Amino acid sequence: MAKKFKPGPYNYCDYRCERCDEREDCRVYKENQERILQHYIKGEDPSDPEVFMNDLKEIFEKTQAMIKQAAAERGIELDDIPDEEEKRTDPHEYAIYNLAYDYFIRAHRLIKRLEAEGIPEDIEAEFEDFVWYHALIVAKTGRLVSSFDDDFFDPEAREIEEEGTLQVINKSIMYSRNALNKMLNELPDDFQDIVDLLDILKRLEIQLKTNIRKKIDN
Ligand code: SF4
Repeated sequence: MAKKFKPGPYNYCDYRCERCDEREDCRVYKENQERILQHYIKGEDPSDPEVFMNDLKEIFEKTQAMIKQAAAERGIELDDIPDEEEKRTDPHEYAIYNLAYDYFIRAHRLIKRLEAEGIPEDIEAEFEDFVWYHALIVAKTGRLVSSFDDDFFDPEAREIEEEGTLQVINKSIMYSRNALNKMLNELPDDFQDIVDLLDILKRLEIQLKTNIRKKIDN
């Protein structure tokens, strides 16, 4: 009989490895260290949002492969995994993804402007959180809505997957909100943009609580 399916911690973490107790046993952490080293060797900044988004994509693909391998080792038939190209979900069909995407685009614009102007020392840590989580929220929300149509997951595995992903999104929202509230006090010129971002996070949080599968009206 198949054992209870339990993905590794890297499947539902926020990739803030420097704050994580699982590093010693984490395969993704070890691969991340190698990836970061490669960025430095190539003269790339690993915290650059575009570099980070590419890394996330790669991490997700590898994580998915690890989950499938772990599931197979626990008796879930590999034959259940479709060989053909998986059906692609358009994430923009979903209300939560559109909110996360809108947040990402607006946050990205603000990040670029603030980087050009210079980040006040008092909010460096919050700005770092803001940058990190603005990309993670949209990436994890995209992953969540893509899993709705993924035939690989049985109901039990799907529930675990969704719960884990939702936890990361909610944690990311919490850190982002804390960062933005601090930035609000320190960046009066950007008051309206920051308030707008907080409003999108609030709407995303409400939508996550009420109906994660809500589709937008065409
Ligand atoms: S990837 Fe990093 S944050 Fe995630 S479980 Fe591994 S060590 Fe922890």
